[in-house]
Amino acid sequence: MQAQMKTGTDLDRAARILREGGLVAIPTETVYGLAANALDEQAVLSIFQVKNRPAFDPLIVHLSRAAELDRYVYGVNELIWRLADHFWPGPLTLVLKRKSLIPDLVSSGLETVAVRVPNHRLTLDLLTRIDFPLAAPSANPFGYVSPTCSAHVLNQLGGQVGYILEGGDSSVGLESTVLDLSSETPVILRRGGIPEEELEDFMGYKIHKMLSSSYPGAPGMLQSHYAPRCILLTYSGDEWRGLASRMSPPRLSGATWLRFSTALIEIEEQQQWILSQTGNLAEAARNLFRAIRELDDRSPSIIFAEKAPNIGLGRAINDRLERASTKNGGP
Ligand code: AMP
Ligand code: MG
Repeated sequence: MQAQMKTGTDLDRAARILREGGLVAIPTETVYGLAANALDEQAVLSIFQVKNRPAFDPLIVHLSRAAELDRYVYGVNELIWRLADHFWPGPLTLVLKRKSLIPDLVSSGLETVAVRVPNHRLTLDLLTRIDFPLAAPSANPFGYVSPTCSAHVLNQLGGQVGYILEGGDSSVGLESTVLDLSSETPVILRRGGIPEEELEDFMGYKIHKMLSSSYPGAPGMLQSHYAPRCILLTYSGDEWRGLASRMSPPRLSGATWLRFSTALIEIEEQQQWILSQTGNLAEAARNLFRAIRELDDRSPSIIFAEKAPNIGLGRAINDRLERASTKNGGP
C-alpha cells in the first residue's frame, strides 16, 4: 500500500513537493534522477544527504527547453545553440559558465554548471509546470549502480524521497555524455548516451577527451563508480578462463557471466545474462544496469563481465563496466 502511494504519475503532486523544497525521483531516458529545485540551496543539500554524495560532486541541472539557457549560463554562442537544437531533448550534458542564480552547491563551487534537457515526456511535462530547473544526479546511493526503473529507486531510496514519478524503463539506460564547452576547446568529460563519433561528426573534428579521474569536478569519473557489491571482473574473449581455472569448484559454481551477445555453451543458462541476443549496442546499454543489479542481488561469488565492442555506445558500456570492476577499487 505504502509502496503504491510512493510511485505514480501524479504531476501535480510531484510539482507541489518540489515547490516545497522536497525531493522527487524523475524518469529520464538516461537513468532515474533524484530531483530538487536547482535554485533552492537547502533542497539541493538534501539531495547530497540522501545520496550520501560528497559535496565535491557537481549535479546536472535539467531544463524544460534550450531557450532557458541564457537565464542560467553565460556565453551561449552559435555552436551551443546548434548543439542544443540538434541533441536536445537527449542524453548530452553541456558544461557552461554558471550565472549566480545557480547556487554554489549545485556545481560544487565550480564556475561552471552542467545542463541538459532530458528526453522523457513526463519529466518534460513536470518541468513546464514549475518555474525553476531541476538539479538531479542519479537516484541511487553514491557509488552504486544507477536506477533504470522506478522499482530500483523505491528499493534503495523509497523511504527518503517524497514521490517517485513512474515513467517506465529508461530508454537509453546509460548516463548522458558530458561535453565541456566552458573554455576555448570542447572536451568530453564522460562517455554516455550520445556516442563520441556522433558528436565528432556534428562538430566536424576530433574532440579532446579528459576521461581520467584526475578531473576534480566530475564524479562519474571517479575510478570506482556504478559498482555492485559483489566482485566484478571485466574480460574480453576467453580471458575469464584463466581465472576460472584457478577457482575452487564451489566458487566456480557460484559465478555468473554477464555476456554481451552470445551464451557460453559449457556454462549453465541460469549463470549467464545476455545483454543483447542480436549484438545491438543500444539494447545492451538499455539492459546493462538492470543486469548488474539483478546479478548482484543473487550474491554470486564473482561476475565475469564481457566487454562490448569498443565502438559507439560500446565505449560507454565498457566505461561503466570498468568503473564497476573490482580491480578499480570496487568492493
Ligand atoms: P550524475 O548526475 O550522477 O550522472 O553525475 C553528474 C555528472 O555531471 C558527473 O559525472 C560530471 O561528469 C558532470 N558534471 C556536473 N557538473 C559538472 C561541472 N560543473 N563540470 C564538469 N562536470 C560536471
Ligand atoms: Mg550517478
